Amino acid sequence: MELAANLTRLLARIDAACAAVGRDPGEVRLLPVTKYFPATDIAELYRLGRRDFGENRPQEAAAKAAEPIGTGIRWHLIGRLQRNKARQVVRWAHSVHSVDSERLATALGAATAAARDAGERDTPLEVLIQVSLDADPARGGVEPAAVPALADAIADTAELRLAGLMAIPPQAADPDAEFARLAELHTRLRARHPGATELSAGMSDDLERAIAHGSTCVRVGTALMGTRPITSA
Ligand SMILES: *Cc1c(COP(=O)(O)O)cnc(C)c1O
Repeated sequence: MELAANLTRLLARIDAACAAVGRDPGEVRLLPVTKYFPATDIAELYRLGRRDFGENRPQEAAAKAAEPIGTGIRWHLIGRLQRNKARQVVRWAHSVHSVDSERLATALGAATAAARDAGERDTPLEVLIQVSLDADPARGGVEPAAVPALADAIADTAELRLAGLMAIPPQAADPDAEFARLAELHTRLRARHPGATELSAGMSDDLERAIAHGSTCVRVGTALMGTRPITSA
């Protein structure tokens, strides 16, 4: 009940944000972020028609992806990923939004090839480059100046498809200025890699601003799922 009402409200927010800047709502995907919430909630969202889900911890995501929720689900890893988890992640992930080094890209490419050989997947892995807008290492991401080289490396890696950019704006910053910078980086990226159309930006509190600056994917947890349970992880 509550999830259905939250979803309706959220989709209306996205529609209104698009209308405010003359964008087609079909260009902006909602990625429900289901971290810390049980698979039963994901099953409810599935019944409500959602097929994409974002998780930020590989182990938790793997467990949920193994649940019999339904067919046609696309799981997106949006949190930090260590190279030694790449092989596990490519068993279930449709995309990884948090690629921030060539070493990680190389590991994901090799892992995807191995998963294909093992019959565990039959598609390339979609990857987004996570950009650090404030150079805070705790949040992950590459600095803007490093994006072109990383993009070329990903484009040259068999089994990976460069889908676009992702960012989490710094909490203290003016989100408008940060999203504008991100949009400019995205424009430059697309000039060289026209297929990299995704801009994963915007969360519960700032999705309107992100949509105004060209977001194609808003990653929403709290506004849909409610407040996350406190966890020590
Ligand atoms: C948790 C999380 C979100 C969702 O944040 P909310 O503010 O709860 O909407 C989005 N992106 C990433 C990378 C996250 O880890």
